[in-house]
Amino acid sequence: MKIAIAGGGIGGLISALMLRKKGYEVSLFEKRDRLGGRLAFTEEQGYRIDEGPTIVLLPEMLTSILNEAGISRDQYELININPLYKLHFKDGSSYTKYNSIERQIQEIKENFPGNEEGFVQFMKDMEIRFNLGKDQFLEKSFHDKRTFWTRNNLKTLVHLKAYKSVNNSLKAYFQDERIRQAYSLQTLYIGGNPLDSPALYSLISFSEHKHGIYYLKGGYASLVTVLENALLNSGVKVMKNANVERVVTEGDQAAALIVNGEEVKADAFVLNGDFPGASKMIPKESMPARNYTASSSCVLLYFGLDKVYTDSPVHQFFMGSNFQQHMKEIFETKEVPSDPSIYAFHPSVIDSSLAPEGHGVLYALVPVPSGSSINWGEQEGFVEKVIDQLEERGFPGLRKSIQWKKVRTPDDKEMEGLFQGGSFGIAPTLFQSGVFRPQVKPSKLTNVYAAGASIHPGGGIPIVMQGAKLMVSAILSDHQNKEREGVSLSG
Ligand SMILES: Cc1cc2nc3c(=O)[nH]c(=O)nc-3n(C[C@H](O)[C@H](O)[C@H](O)COP(=O)(O)OP(=O)(O)OC[C@H]3O[C@@H](n4cnc5c(N)ncnc54)[C@H](O)[C@@H]3O)c2cc1C
Repeated sequence: MKIAIAGGGIGGLISALMLRKKGYEVSLFEKRDRLGGRLAFTEEQGYRIDEGPTIVLLPEMLTSILNEAGISRDQYELININPLYKLHFKDGSSYTKYNSIERQIQEIKENFPGNEEGFVQFMKDMEIRFNLGKDQFLEKSFHDKRTFWTRNNLKTLVHLKAYKSVNNSLKAYFQDERIRQAYSLQTLYIGGNPLDSPALYSLISFSEHKHGIYYLKGGYASLVTVLENALLNSGVKVMKNANVERVVTEGDQAAALIVNGEEVKADAFVLNGDFPGASKMIPKESMPARNYTASSSCVLLYFGLDKVYTDSPVHQFFMGSNFQQHMKEIFETKEVPSDPSIYAFHPSVIDSSLAPEGHGVLYALVPVPSGSSINWGEQEGFVEKVIDQLEERGFPGLRKSIQWKKVRTPDDKEMEGLFQGGSFGIAPTLFQSGVFRPQVKPSKLTNVYAAGASIHPGGGIPIVMQGAKLMVSAILSDHQNKEREGVSLSG
């Protein structure tokens, strides 16, 4: 049986490897001249830095899915980052997160006394919710809607407090607004508003403590080379500069893809491009139009420096003076943030392979609105303000150390095909989560499947991999059912 995959993002790559391992003949078509999609490097003048993903979350999920896809643990190196990261508040206070619960309690006692019990309770409650959420949402696909609307799932949704926002649910645990920020900003990792995203996403900040955060040696995007080699060794046909234009249908099935004007026939098809865009490749009668809400976007600054800041941790957050105002500017008024919170990634402190000897790289991410009418080309003043903040609050003498600099804005994201320039797929709102998110079988076509950040269970490298795994299970189960019925998957 032949399977054609449109898109070589992490969802497409993992799907290809898993399907090949199951014995299918797999072809992968990627419109760009490289694989990896958002998992990529920006590389210039001897400096190399991750362009998008930097934080390895859910390490067990990541390693076990890679293993299932045929990538053994000795093909990449994961480094545990502990302390996890430091948050700097505008009033001069700071908060460092640790793996150890005891060390964390001590940190809270020293900096935010009175919030210790709340933290212990938070970790206890989230552990229960994480296990429930993992079993009933992360590890299940809801392309058959009946599998979602079960008594058990509805009970779990109530338990996960899906009806409350992350920020509101944290009020039960933390009195101090700054700590609430420290445990709610993680929804921004997937482009969601902490003041609005359902409380089940509080599990991300729990997971950071519980499962740890890691760095992939050489940069997260070095995983792409590992995956590409595995694809070639396993016999997957990989075509780059291969733009999939549309899906050709015959009745309730897809028959072929049109790739660079040529018809490519297969028995089943996987769409990996960001789904609001990818869905347009399916004829309207098979894919009813739906309005989506885009995730937030970001302005990204990449620097090559003539030094390494040996005292600066790998990850830091420089919080703005009014976090709620920043969220309002991103998600409601859609304007250039006046005093934004900034995430800084400084891998050179643990990885000397990213720059010439004695030099370093630095990355700053500022959450900004997607789908707005802002002319990002005219925002040099905004970029300069971000550099000022980095220099004043974490990287003294930064400006004079800069040897190379590059800026990416939501306009670049939109050009690359991300829906409304949102960096993380469709937003993780209540009505775009679980059963409401596009599913691994996203249309009326019985042999078209999807994997990627806008598909259930959602965005982030390990979660997209998990989605690809669910998608592969759906193909296998359809194939087995058809075989039982005595017909091939394509009819
Ligand atoms: C700035 C930023 C920071 C992030 N940080 C983290 C992080 O720290 N940790 C984490 O886990 N995740 C992070 N993420 C999220 C993570 O990068 C994404 O969830 C993940 O990479 C999405 O993978 P995907 O499979 O949806 O495919 P994508 O990366 O969207 O790739 C899709 C591929 O399909 C191709 N394609 C599209 N249309 C066509 C077509 N018509 N024909 C052929 N090919 C096509 C595209 O060119 C692309 O290569 C971050 C993302 C961004 C942008």
